[in-house]
Amino acid sequence: MERTECVVVGAGVIGLAIARRLALAGREVIVLEAAEGIGTVTSSRNSEVIHAGIYYRAASLMAQMCVAGKHALYRYCNEHGIPHRNCGKLIVSTSAKETEKLQSIKAHAEANGVDDMQVLSGEAARNLEPALNCDAALLSPSTGIIDSHAYMLALRGEAEDAGAAFAFHTPLLRATAKDGEIVIETGGDAPMTLACGLLVNAAGLDAPNVARNIAGLPEALIPKPYLAKGNYFSCSAKAPFSRLIYPVPEPGGLGVHLTLDMAGQARFGPDVEWVDRIDYAVDPKRAERFYPAIRRYWPDLPDGALMPSYSGMRPKIVPPEIASQDFVIQGREDHGVDGVINLFGIESPGLTSSLAIADHVGALASSI
Ligand SMILES: Cc1cc2nc3c(=O)[nH]c(=O)nc-3n(C[C@H](O)[C@H](O)[C@H](O)COP(=O)(O)OP(=O)(O)OC[C@H]3O[C@@H](n4cnc5c(N)ncnc54)[C@H](O)[C@@H]3O)c2cc1C
Repeated sequence: MERTECVVVGAGVIGLAIARRLALAGREVIVLEAAEGIGTVTSSRNSEVIHAGIYYRAASLMAQMCVAGKHALYRYCNEHGIPHRNCGKLIVSTSAKETEKLQSIKAHAEANGVDDMQVLSGEAARNLEPALNCDAALLSPSTGIIDSHAYMLALRGEAEDAGAAFAFHTPLLRATAKDGEIVIETGGDAPMTLACGLLVNAAGLDAPNVARNIAGLPEALIPKPYLAKGNYFSCSAKAPFSRLIYPVPEPGGLGVHLTLDMAGQARFGPDVEWVDRIDYAVDPKRAERFYPAIRRYWPDLPDGALMPSYSGMRPKIVPPEIASQDFVIQGREDHGVDGVINLFGIESPGLTSSLAIADHVGALASSI
């Protein structure tokens, strides 16, 4: 039986960041990936926004990882030549009632360590973005966008340079954790049995299922997975904005917002659609809800400009009636099993947080 020090399951942005972190610390690492390449699932179906860390519950893992991860990610992009743009974002209010909420959003952001937010009058906001309809706005200067594929390629390259090996078409089927050794069976093109001292489960949407297939983990600590699909529409008209534009959040979501890709193309979404199974097709009828929501802040959106684009699945671990969830990262202290680290519910801002999550996992793994 082959042996290695560490196995990372999943080569999405989280598994890649963790593999890099462990390999740079001198650990021997094999990454098992069910698909044919890196980042083919949720990591290539998101908004590619570097989030500031504004809304997350104070002291939550999401708030901490997002703010630390944002700083680390900007540094990483600058050092490694990853295309990105620190374009900033405006949260716009279109009524007096919404304007009242801007101060409390700012205060919440400050409690999370986001201390550069500025409240702008409607006129000041229109000086920045003349096409905007708004009463007032909140400017988040530290929000940005990133070429997530260039980022993932850089993570993989660094991990490989530090000795990590990647096995594609190689799903983890089952594992047994006993006395500090984990024995893994894989499927795919070349099934194998592999022993390791550290198993990191970064399988994204599949992480609860992978955990259920690790004999020895207490079942009660493995969350039930739910899927909240996020649909995007692209815009055939050139959107006249250079910053990301978000409405004031409503209960249950961030509202229909505008993000930009690195080429300056606007996209709207993601919305929230709870589903029972994975189907990435975007229903064109959902555009009916997008038009009125967008026209509140961009009245000139032309008729017929929205086109169904792509979608992603949020790896939820709470049902729809629970408004928020946090990242869950479990090590031995949580589940009592040596050598297994599980990552559950790594939805947005997972991309932004990836380097901070990798540091967190690296610290948990340092004694293993
Ligand atoms: C609609 C949407 C918008 C988002 N927007 C943003 C954003 O703008 N900014 C931001 O910071 N975050 C955003 N996110 C969050 C971000 O995309 C995710 O947090 C991140 O991509 C999760 O990465 P991951 O590696 O955990 O999962 P994934 O990318 O899904 O990777 C998991 C990998 O595990 C593999 N796998 C699964 N099962 C097995 C198995 N048994 N054996 C081996 N391999 C297996 C899969 O094939 C996959 O490659 C968004 C998410 C969604 C859904």
